[in-house]
Amino acid sequence: MDGMCLMCGLEDKSIYHALFKCGGVKEIWDLWKECPTVIGAKNMDFSYLAFKLLDVGTPRDMELLVVIAWAIWHNRNLRVFEAINQRAEQVWNHAVSMLSDYKEAVKFCMLGPSDCEVSWKKPQVEVFKINTDGAIANEGRGSSIGVVIRDSRGEAVAALCRVLPGCFLMDEIEALTVKAGILLARELDLHQVIVESDSLSIVQRILAKDFSGGLGHIVHGILGWPISLNVMI
Ligand SMILES: [Zn+2]
Repeated sequence: MDGMCLMCGLEDKSIYHALFKCGGVKEIWDLWKECPTVIGAKNMDFSYLAFKLLDVGTPRDMELLVVIAWAIWHNRNLRVFEAINQRAEQVWNHAVSMLSDYKEAVKFCMLGPSDCEVSWKKPQVEVFKINTDGAIANEGRGSSIGVVIRDSRGEAVAALCRVLPGCFLMDEIEALTVKAGILLARELDLHQVIVESDSLSIVQRILAKDFSGGLGHIVHGILGWPISLNVMI
């Protein structure tokens, strides 16, 4: 079994098998409706596909190829090492939203310094704004979460900073940070709150009430409290 695919156990493990043949990946590639070439044709390896797309596709096609392949590989690791199962649509959406997040960030970085100043806006009277941010660390160090709650005058009414033991994915830590902010607001008995996170994918997931996968229970907990959500990069 040593040389067999860890996910399906049916074929030898290889990059070609993992990206194009292993169970479920075809459904992910099939979601790429505008793909200008055939994906997964016999013996077509990744570099051949990349050259083919350089020939017949657009730069956007090349970006999609790379980001979808990465998302498939990431999904495979989640499944094999963390027993997390994602549907084809989730893998696809993750890839596409990661690409759009990246493009937004690049656009943002290309603005002049004065345009880059993010203007934090005060909430309305009697409304509190919760700003959250999480960070993951490698090499066995803990991940950390940070929360600040401000009132309509812009003054901080509470803050929280915590190091969480263990390894988390970026989305997990961002979701946990949003949840920690909401719990802090609950402890303070604040009812009208706006949560502002810099994680577009988490905000989208909460707004879509997407309870699937390992983050489902966190999203469920977040939605147990009436909140407004913003993204602030
Ligand atoms: Zn397989």
